[in-house]
Amino acid sequence: MQNRDFDVIIIGGGITGTALTYVLSKYTDVESICILEKYGSLAPLNSNATSNSQTLHCGDIETNYTLAKASQVKHTANMLVNYKKQVEKNDFLYKYPKMILAVGDDECERLEKRYAEFNEAFPYMELWDAEKIAEIEPKVALKNGKPRPEKIMASGCTDEYCAVNFGNLSRSFIDSARKNNKNIQVSLSSEVTHIVKIEEGYECQTAQGSFRAKFVVVSAGAHSLLLANQLGHGLDLSILPMAGSFYFIPSTLNGKVYTMQNDKLPFAALHGDPDLTEANKTRLGPTALMMPKLERYTGGTYLDFWKSLKLDKKVVKVFWDLMKDSTIRNYIFRNFLFEVPWLNKKLFVKDAQKIIPDLTANDLTYAKGYGGIRPQVIDKTEMVLKLGEASIVPNKDPIIFNMTPSPGATTCLGNAYRDAKIICERLDIPFNREDFINELLDGKDLDI
Ligand SMILES: Cc1cc2nc3c(=O)[nH]c(=O)nc-3n(C[C@H](O)[C@H](O)[C@H](O)COP(=O)(O)OP(=O)(O)OC[C@H]3O[C@@H](n4cnc5c(N)ncnc54)[C@H](O)[C@@H]3O)c2cc1C
Repeated sequence: MQNRDFDVIIIGGGITGTALTYVLSKYTDVESICILEKYGSLAPLNSNATSNSQTLHCGDIETNYTLAKASQVKHTANMLVNYKKQVEKNDFLYKYPKMILAVGDDECERLEKRYAEFNEAFPYMELWDAEKIAEIEPKVALKNGKPRPEKIMASGCTDEYCAVNFGNLSRSFIDSARKNNKNIQVSLSSEVTHIVKIEEGYECQTAQGSFRAKFVVVSAGAHSLLLANQLGHGLDLSILPMAGSFYFIPSTLNGKVYTMQNDKLPFAALHGDPDLTEANKTRLGPTALMMPKLERYTGGTYLDFWKSLKLDKKVVKVFWDLMKDSTIRNYIFRNFLFEVPWLNKKLFVKDAQKIIPDLTANDLTYAKGYGGIRPQVIDKTEMVLKLGEASIVPNKDPIIFNMTPSPGATTCLGNAYRDAKIICERLDIPFNREDFINELLDGKDLDI
């Protein structure tokens, strides 16, 4: 008979839940942890390598970050590099050249300014002219075999970790957690349908029976809000699922090529990346498409979407404010068209030619089955669409709910640190923060 009583239950076996399992097992005196995962494997949804862009977001090629945000993101992202040093097998973290590409006078001017501002925090980044870009990424710098007619410039580097297979990393976290002499149980095919408050903690009900814990962390992606709402938490929040699709081309880029972000558009600008699971293919994307479901390719979850959206005047107002802006409106409309067969390639290639000028629509293949969902949160009290991660941490109750859109996979160990601190504080369990800070944060604590 399986043990059903734990110190901590984590709902969701994606990168967020598995990172927390690792941190609790290695750095705290939490003795028993159970992951309850809806599907038959770890990382089946957004943390799977096919669902996301596989990028370690360090703040150096993301032009939508301020210097302060970029520096914080870099410190958190570096935790994955430090984690890699602790394990024998690395099948998750990879080095490639990477760059932000500026095209045209205006973007080049912005990039030069940004480079000067960010240089001290990111000393390994270089400023590249067209000739240097041609050495690293010939297909980006040339059009019909000649230098591109418009001015181009890039800020990049060639020897940094920048690509992650987050699915493999999730499995690595669990393998590592199991080496720490704790009771770690992973219960697959165990969808939690209800969470019930009990005298000491919570009971999680699944088709496999009930599991009890003193503390529960819900890291169920887009589903977390629905479970929070059942317990009366997060009723002022809604979920807006933003799917992202990709296109494949035969291997063309040697590394990651990001484009400059339009400040008005809330989702990452188009980029090209070597695919970690499809050798000899370059992936272009992602697009951004609103979808009335919480999971991309599993069928169903439409009803769950409506329950999490909780459509009312406030939600309509947030949509209305978004659609009032012509840049956002055109972007949303264009992204719908990226899903229409035949037309999609003809339109998408125009955007992608910014990265690879010689690309034609015939080179593109829609990456079927690729691309997950970013659970963007609408705050109905503030009447805004939140762009980053969102957590619900009820006052004093032993439960946390996490919703983690991009770059939630990169920040998994930072989020785990934040949650582990709360768990240990509320359960009065020791947390070896000194080792954590020395081993994963190079001796400098995170500002969270
Ligand atoms: C197109 C796209 C590109 C992205 N690119 C990047 C990137 O390059 N870099 C980056 O850092 N981030 C990126 N992200 C974001 C990143 O993928 C997510 O932040 C991250 O995977 C979230 O991990 P998670 O564990 O919180 O959620 P998930 O991976 O979604 O895991 C949640 C788990 O909970 C399970 N679950 C749900 N409901 C229940 C239930 N009731 N009971 C039990 N289990 C349940 C699900 O089956 C799932 O396994 C991207 C996302 C998208 C969509």
